[in-house]
Amino acid sequence: MAQVSLKNIYKVYPGNIEAVRDVSLGVENREFVVLVGPSGCGKSTTLRMIAGLEEVTKGEVWIGNKMVNDVSPKDRDIAMVFQNYALYPHMTVYENMSFALRLRKYPKSEIETRVKEAAEILNITKLLNRRPRELSGGQRQRVAVGRAIVRKPMVFLFDEPLSNLDAKMRVQMRIELNKLHIRLQSTMIYVTHDQTEAMTMGNRIVVMKDGVIQQVADPITLYDKPVNKFVAGFIGSPPMNFVKGRIIKKDSKLFFTDEGFTVKIVEDMYKKLVSYEGKEIIFGIRPEDIYDKLFTSMASSENTVKAVVEIVEPMGAEVFLYLITGESPLIARVGGHDKPEVHQDMDLVFDMSKAHFFNKDTEEIII
Ligand code: ADP
Repeated sequence: MAQVSLKNIYKVYPGNIEAVRDVSLGVENREFVVLVGPSGCGKSTTLRMIAGLEEVTKGEVWIGNKMVNDVSPKDRDIAMVFQNYALYPHMTVYENMSFALRLRKYPKSEIETRVKEAAEILNITKLLNRRPRELSGGQRQRVAVGRAIVRKPMVFLFDEPLSNLDAKMRVQMRIELNKLHIRLQSTMIYVTHDQTEAMTMGNRIVVMKDGVIQQVADPITLYDKPVNKFVAGFIGSPPMNFVKGRIIKKDSKLFFTDEGFTVKIVEDMYKKLVSYEGKEIIFGIRPEDIYDKLFTSMASSENTVKAVVEIVEPMGAEVFLYLITGESPLIARVGGHDKPEVHQDMDLVFDMSKAHFFNKDTEEIII
């Protein structure tokens, strides 16, 4: 049985605001599951319902083999880490970390052992006598995590814990939390709006939009096989390119065309797309599946497209090119050596075996 399981849960806030709709999810023992989606998609509400900080309007929340809808947060055997750390300013790090255990009347020696162990893991042993205002953002975040660790909860819940840190610190803490998961082997549920964080941390990722789960999958499946245009566009940076156009048939071959360019559809995709002949469709291609003709041997007249360079962003190991082809903007991710001039004409080669096609009306994936 899953460690945490949500069964058809709904959350309706006063004013008939439906924040979460029919969410079902099983989180396995020791799994690191990330809930991701744009601001307002209902991920925090979902997490807060697991924590018991928000009442469930409809549906069931299970932790272990117990239905916890009516169990108070302190009795749920969970520990939550918040974005704002929520440390007590007048207490030292040691007092902050030991607070929950003292409240539960743990013996002093047990408290000391647990705090020291957690401090060791998080490399904050030297900070135990400081107060929160004497700590950097990253150190405060570690204390907040430490406070959760000492509880040895069945499940860790994280609500955007890295959002207040600068970019470099965020990456560092991300790695530390990954290590922590490997070391503690605990069940963790983590909320973020940042798809990179989701991709790099989750064993499985739950993508949400407007209170509804769009897809649950491991990072690579999510990336390679998104179920709809929303997931395809949300996961990946720079994002997937989308072009609206039509499928046409010529000499028993299928092509995708918009006003600006025409490219041949690979044989493997023919069967799925033939019924769309003459119909509008959305073509999707990731920036790394677009090549500069000068640097690929893949080019043919049926996969090459003319474009104009608008912006060149050198990233070091690679270059992001912002281009216009016909009417459509495109982003290509090319090698670091490839530095075309702004306003220059370019021949782009699409790896059509990596193309995605979406239904124009439902935005569901076709292939
Ligand atoms: P996320 O964490 O994905 O940014 P939230 O779960 O915080 O999203 O919010 C989901 C939706 O519920 C949003 O539309 C938000 O405005 C609304 N919402 C959140 N909390 C409350 C509340 N206490 N009262 C009313 N509406 C709320």
